[in-house]
Amino acid sequence: MQPVIEIIDLHRIYQTGAAPVHAVRGLSLRVGPGEFVAVMGASGSGKSTLMNMLGCLDRPTRGTYRLDGTDISLLDSDALAAIRNHKIGFVFQGFNLLSRTTALENVELPMLYAHPPLPGRDIRERAVRALGQVGLGARGDHVPSQLSGGQQQRVAIARALVLGPSLLLADEPTGNLDTHTSIEIMGVFQQLNDSGMTIVMVTHELDIARYARRTIIMRDGRIVRDEPVPVRLDAALELTRVAAEHEAADLIV
Ligand code: ADP
Ligand code: MG
Repeated sequence: MQPVIEIIDLHRIYQTGAAPVHAVRGLSLRVGPGEFVAVMGASGSGKSTLMNMLGCLDRPTRGTYRLDGTDISLLDSDALAAIRNHKIGFVFQGFNLLSRTTALENVELPMLYAHPPLPGRDIRERAVRALGQVGLGARGDHVPSQLSGGQQQRVAIARALVLGPSLLLADEPTGNLDTHTSIEIMGVFQQLNDSGMTIVMVTHELDIARYARRTIIMRDGRIVRDEPVPVRLDAALELTRVAAEHEAADLIV
């Protein structure tokens, strides 16, 4: 089967400041459809640099990146923007929602730049459906400040999904969330993955990486380990277990 991601000997050298920084140095990687990959590694190991290239937010200095079979180095900036909009959903640690804009309008945003343009009714329908998909159906008219962190991240996930991407990228998606909410967000990712979505997620937390199916560890701009998650955690089961533990603790008190 054709991989969603195919990277061969990728490099990224930043030319800012006195000395160039070789942030990604000769990285090769294949990710197939339906995989759920957690990318780990110390701060500065090149995780975000890799994600930005995967998300077509940044171009490699050299090396090959094929997304769904398309070599992105051959594309001009318009074509790259179109790929970014249609093929890739990006979720960030800080949610990156527009603050004066409702949840529904935030989810509609990527569709306003879609080519070919979507009819207005489709835009609303799709946004409502995407919010439903992440369990936020009833909160469409709330602005971000009226939502919890977990709910804001759900809105961001809905926004990432709304154009039907082939790849969902997430850079520390639970970095600003408490443990319980983090597991809930992993539940959303596992549901999406179970229905076929390919996911690549950066996390520095081992507990979070265990919700994925495969772990990659980076060091100094290279992959130093790449292995399946031996015992995958199930977010739904974990949430039940945590709730039962809290109940037991309450009984003791
Ligand atoms: P991580 O996400 O694993 O913490 P990054 O990809 O952010 O790592 O950074 C990898 C290396 O590249 C670090 O040494 C960092 O300082 C450097 N770096 C990242 N972004 C830039 C940039 N825009 N300009 C210059 N150096 C950068
Ligand atoms: Mg980073």
